[in-house]
Amino acid sequence: MTNNAVFSFARPKNEPIYSYGAESKEKREVKEKLEELKAKVIEIPLIIGGKEVKTGNMGEIRIPHNHNKIIARYHKAGKKEVVMAIEAAAAAKEKWEKMPWDRRSAIFRKAAQLIAGPYRAEINAATMLGQGKNIYQSEIDAVCELVDFLEFNVYFLSEIYKDQPDSTKDIMNQMEYRPLEGFVFAVSPFNFTAIGGNLPTAPAMAGNTILWKPSSMAVYSNYLFMKILHEAGLPDGVINFIPASGAQIGDYVLASRDLAGIHFTGSTEVFRNMWTKVGENIGNYKTYPRIVGETGGKDFVMAHSSAEKNELITALVRGSFEYQGQKCSAASRAYIPASNWEEIKDSFINTVENIKMGPVEDFTNFVNAVIDRASFDKIIGYINYAKDSAEAEVIAGGEWDDSEGYFIRPTIILTSNPKFKTMEEEIFGPVLTVYVYPDDQYEAALKLCNETSPYALTGCIMAREKDAQLKALEALTHAAGNFYINDKPTAAVVGQQPFGGSRASGTNDKAGSIWNLTRWLSPRSLKETLNPPKDYKYPFMEEE
Ligand code: NAD
Repeated sequence: MTNNAVFSFARPKNEPIYSYGAESKEKREVKEKLEELKAKVIEIPLIIGGKEVKTGNMGEIRIPHNHNKIIARYHKAGKKEVVMAIEAAAAAKEKWEKMPWDRRSAIFRKAAQLIAGPYRAEINAATMLGQGKNIYQSEIDAVCELVDFLEFNVYFLSEIYKDQPDSTKDIMNQMEYRPLEGFVFAVSPFNFTAIGGNLPTAPAMAGNTILWKPSSMAVYSNYLFMKILHEAGLPDGVINFIPASGAQIGDYVLASRDLAGIHFTGSTEVFRNMWTKVGENIGNYKTYPRIVGETGGKDFVMAHSSAEKNELITALVRGSFEYQGQKCSAASRAYIPASNWEEIKDSFINTVENIKMGPVEDFTNFVNAVIDRASFDKIIGYINYAKDSAEAEVIAGGEWDDSEGYFIRPTIILTSNPKFKTMEEEIFGPVLTVYVYPDDQYEAALKLCNETSPYALTGCIMAREKDAQLKALEALTHAAGNFYINDKPTAAVVGQQPFGGSRASGTNDKAGSIWNLTRWLSPRSLKETLNPPKDYKYPFMEEE
């Protein structure tokens, strides 16, 4: 059914970030929600075909800064539920893809409104407790970025639908933007509620139906988002929410003949394994699955001798330690000229040593706990490696305490070896490694930066001299998909800095942009001839 109206979508504005200043209403509301959520233990089911499904195979959600405290228990999917979810996605498909675009889009815009309004405090509190974020880190993720993903993707998709080929007087041409044939498997990471929300909704908007496997550490906030989508009017079966151990269900999903796409964000290793599985199954699929994955990073701060001292320190501190370095974009290696290092060293170390760390309920903390035991152990493994090495020295932090929560002090490692292990590998914690280079070897330092790590996600150049900036832009062309000049390499904003990297960092399809959305569409070209020819012969065949 169509009413023949063509709705015009305006380009949205980014969701404003609330300040949560002293005495503010928003601060009071979040504090109340934190207490309310901590006072109960909720049970989280799977949601398949719109129905709650309970398997009895349970996982626990604990607060990272208070690991004795359980706030939820969730049911985990197994093979049987994967089959149910694939069937539910197939059953919902026809009606969903035929729903007129303006009506479909209204569901996602309504969800954005619910998050920005009545659920703002709750989705923040859920992200703060479940994923260990302070209020600012949560606000820019679970509220602002998620709202932006929903609003901007609706707008970008409307731009794609509008993009039509030329027609002539007697020929009408059209691009019909079909969804893919089959279901999309969305697999999301722990560290951003917004990514959890974006991975299933971007392909769903385009008319696809989805199996969504959230990260076990983000189930709490992701379940709330799932409920918000249904409140906003999402039909049953369009997105099927199946928390599970990825390793246990991944292969069943990837073996399905109806797999039409993978929308993944997480570690490089998991993504490579999924791609390998798809390769093994390639002869069995109905269609070639679209594979979109944003993966790990080893993000850099490259400083030139013309960098301003306080700007450099701020970029290093914020870029490396916000959200405990658990952003794919977090700076974790820095190249600093000797003269700048002399100038900033004491003040930088002093600033880092004075960073306040503690639970998220205390809003004066800048740094909180890391996500879980496995991350905690992995990160301190790297710090101990540096402590034991003759090529490195821990010059700030290097301490931890897991008696109540998984706390690791923001740590700076200074190394004499530019290819030191912590200059190359993703640690995903509050650890920055610094390599100091002679001022007159800027070009060599750029080359090192480009060649040291397999990743290419984000990076920045801190320099006041234009020529130095241009040299960095050129030498590091393929070293980062998001490149910053005189700013930290984190905090990309939807609609402003489309996000994603290449090399081992992903397929660089730029989440929250038109490029990403095109991956979930399979266009059909239509041509209607208004005056069809009635004779097969062409004029060139006539001699007289
Ligand atoms: P992860 O790879 O451990 O997990 C990601 C998701 O994959 C989870 O839902 C997990 O359960 C699932 N999974 C694991 N094994 C699976 C399997 N065999 N089959 C199917 N699914 C499986 O990553 P994480 O610890 O949640 O997140 C941190 C990682 O994500 C870091 O490497 C970080 O750089 C990356 N990341 C990248 C971006 C980006 O945009 N490039 C953004 C955020 C996070």
